[in-house]
Amino acid sequence: MLNDHLIAALVNRPCSVCGTGSDQSLLVLEQNINLADLDGFGFASRKPPDNQHHQLLQCKLCDVWYASPVLNEATIHKLYKEASFDTGDEAAFAARTYGKLLAHRIDLVPDTLSAIDVGTGDGAFLLELKKLGFQAVFGIEPSDAPIKMAHPSIRQNIINKPFQESDFTPGEFSLISCFQTIEHLSDPGSFVKSARNLLKENGVLMIVCHNRRGILNRLLGRKSPIIDVEHLQLFSPKSIEYLLSTCGFKSVEVSSFVNSYPLRYWLRLLPLPKPFSRFLQSLLVTLRLDKLVVSLPVGNLAVFGSR
Ligand SMILES: [Zn+2]
Repeated sequence: MLNDHLIAALVNRPCSVCGTGSDQSLLVLEQNINLADLDGFGFASRKPPDNQHHQLLQCKLCDVWYASPVLNEATIHKLYKEASFDTGDEAAFAARTYGKLLAHRIDLVPDTLSAIDVGTGDGAFLLELKKLGFQAVFGIEPSDAPIKMAHPSIRQNIINKPFQESDFTPGEFSLISCFQTIEHLSDPGSFVKSARNLLKENGVLMIVCHNRRGILNRLLGRKSPIIDVEHLQLFSPKSIEYLLSTCGFKSVEVSSFVNSYPLRYWLRLLPLPKPFSRFLQSLLVTLRLDKLVVSLPVGNLAVFGSR
């Protein structure tokens, strides 16, 4: 049975960023999971919040919130492979925001010969990379569904499997990007070290992640959409800086930024009862406000580190 199978796959772990044992951690939230719900939309990107989460601990040393116990890596890969995807519009809005962030710091990147976007979804950011002049662009995406919705001009550039360093040549890339994905990785340190190995001298790792210490996330508390069963760690500015620095990146920059999305998307993220949320959605459509683009500082971090 699915439930028994998933329960058996739960494993305890130390801090996923600095390796400190759980005896040096504070309990933030107790586990709240209905394993039977973890199919399909449970592991889709930008889905409505369902407030399920693993036990969350706060590491006293590096300040990250990390989940433990978590599902083992093989089970996570299987769930992502089959996860659904229905947010093409919103992916394009997010990609535009990230494209602007990169354009502002393009001076950090040694050249625009090659870039790879890890957790690329439907590859919307690959189109932004092309606009910025990158010549060879690749995406990595473990889920099947978003790739089917990729723009035909970049679909063949997306590799449909989990990220693996050995699939690439050391020093191959000028830029590696990873947006709203580092929270989902079982071993974020191993990913950041691999990224460093695959970057050429002065190559840039660009990460976008949630800021657990952002004002909105603190106000919403356990109802924040970042409290999610897919998030195996949640970073603060201190903990993401710690991760990149200890993996050998120099001059790590961490800053907050404003996200722009249509109003209907913001509404989906609010912790409202479903019938009320549906009523507001239809009201927005009636008032023709559903496509209105609204920019809000919701507590995301942009991170740049150079090799
Ligand atoms: Zn730690």
